[in-house]
Amino acid sequence: MKIYRARYGGVCFGVKRAIEMALKATRKKSNVYSLGPLIHNRVAVESLKKQGIITVDKISDIKSGKVIIRSHGIPPALLKKLKRKRFEIVDATCPRVRRAQRYVERLITEGYYVVIIGEKDHPEVKGLLGYAGNKAVMYSKDLKLRKHKIGVVPQTTLDLVHLNEAIANLVPNVSEMKIYNTICKATILRTKEAMRIAEKADMMLVVGGKNSANTTRLYQMCKKIKPSYHIESVDDVIIDWFESVKSIGVTAGASTPKEQVEEVINFIKKKYPA
Ligand code: SF4
Repeated sequence: MKIYRARYGGVCFGVKRAIEMALKATRKKSNVYSLGPLIHNRVAVESLKKQGIITVDKISDIKSGKVIIRSHGIPPALLKKLKRKRFEIVDATCPRVRRAQRYVERLITEGYYVVIIGEKDHPEVKGLLGYAGNKAVMYSKDLKLRKHKIGVVPQTTLDLVHLNEAIANLVPNVSEMKIYNTICKATILRTKEAMRIAEKADMMLVVGGKNSANTTRLYQMCKKIKPSYHIESVDDVIIDWFESVKSIGVTAGASTPKEQVEEVINFIKKKYPA
């Protein structure tokens, strides 16, 4: 079996950095609390828990100690609340997300009404909306804009296809539009490469948490080109999938640890030696 392995699939710089910062913080024999999973990957979260990184859903679940801010960042109001409670804060907001937050702040100062393009329930998006106060809205196809001077900020993991579609829909309704291209380079490289691989492979495997939005989107894009499967780990692989294929592409979302991709590749190599 020929395996095409994506070079740009897997944990991105921002998530890797946040995990390293959290692990470093646990070294002084203290637990570190994360508001929501540090990485959108069930297996990785379990392993981090054993190393002292506890995932909680709300501030009231944190008794004392250190709180890590995830790579996605948080709204300023939440940051204030954490500071008021006097927790020790380890800020692992990805510098690229931080840049997007600053763009939102700048747009507001310059009098623009902000339109965020992305998934409304994603923590990064919630953070960005928070930086805009009540002067922002989520993009949707049937958005009725009352403002004519808008500033557009995409989620860092948005793909270019969706950004272009949204811009084309917005343009006829506004007189002025400022766009900050905050789509992360890691996302662009990962998507382009996955599309290239899907063109030449008979089948695609996309490895990553089912709760990871960017993995799901990557899978949906691959599926448009070739038969594709979204798997969380090697345990989800079904042998029947490989019956009539000679080559397979393997990629992964921004929150999939390298080891999980390795396991999948080693499994296929073992079953179907080249
Ligand atoms: S996708 Fe890019 S911007 Fe978003 S956390 Fe990862 S490295 Fe940072």
